[in-house]
Amino acid sequence: MDIRTFQTVIDETYGARDRARGEAAAFLWFVEEVGELAEAIRRGDEAERLGEFGDVLAWLVTLATLHGVDLAAAAARFAAGCPKCGGRPCTC
Ligand SMILES: [Zn+2]
Repeated sequence: MDIRTFQTVIDETYGARDRARGEAAAFLWFVEEVGELAEAIRRGDEAERLGEFGDVLAWLVTLATLHGVDLAAAAARFAAGCPKCGGRPCTC
């Protein structure tokens, strides 16, 4: 699934609830999920890591949508390598 499709799916699935909850609450959910990801990386098994990476990605997408950011466009900054030096690998 590409990033734009993922952002659309997440918005169709959770967007109405996320907009009602608001940006600040969504940000707290995102941070909470990052904490759960840290726990999964430290002590989790493969299935737990897979789940938590998915949750963090979904909340990142939600935040982008709530702030009117197209994540595919954001990712495109890195399409040719480092957006600063243009290197691939980065030579900054
Ligand atoms: Zn660089």
